[in-house]
Amino acid sequence: MAIIRKFNRSASTDGGIYNTSDDVLRLIRDKNIQTAPLAVEKLAEALGLDIRYESLNNEIPGALKREIGNNNNKWIIYVNSKHPKTRQRFTIAHEIAHYCLHRYEKTSFEDVVFFRGIAVSSEEYAANKFAGEILMPESIFREQIKSGMTKISDLADYFGVSALALRVRAKHLGLEGHGL
Ligand SMILES: [Zn+2]
Repeated sequence: MAIIRKFNRSASTDGGIYNTSDDVLRLIRDKNIQTAPLAVEKLAEALGLDIRYESLNNEIPGALKREIGNNNNKWIIYVNSKHPKTRQRFTIAHEIAHYCLHRYEKTSFEDVVFFRGIAVSSEEYAANKFAGEILMPESIFREQIKSGMTKISDLADYFGVSALALRVRAKHLGLEGHGL
């Protein structure tokens, strides 16, 4: 008789279930995790995810894989150790997004390039959007703009993201043209 193991639906350390970026923002608040720049490693830890930095091909920023152990199934985020810090931070946020959004659909996500200027799959688009939402929370983003921080490079530094990620987030928030 085959035994089909169900996905562990409460893998996070506090037993919570995190499926949306709002759920994750709530976890960040509850665990007092630094928000700007977001302490991505702490967040991964709070969700019960391990991070491994490995030397990957240059076009591969990272991956998310479920590894089956003796007693539990552990999700591991792989990050390209050769990539710059801001890229690695986005990769971790992107893989956290796959975990929250897609962990019941697949057990392995291997990413190639996040922003290519061409249409990506809806799954990748959703993961990028989610990553932007947790790295650059709307309320903090708007507060910074209001307080006079309107230069892309200043905001990108503040959130610890690339200028491109910053611009994409500003567009999603409808803040294009406000000096951005
Ligand atoms: Zn992806």
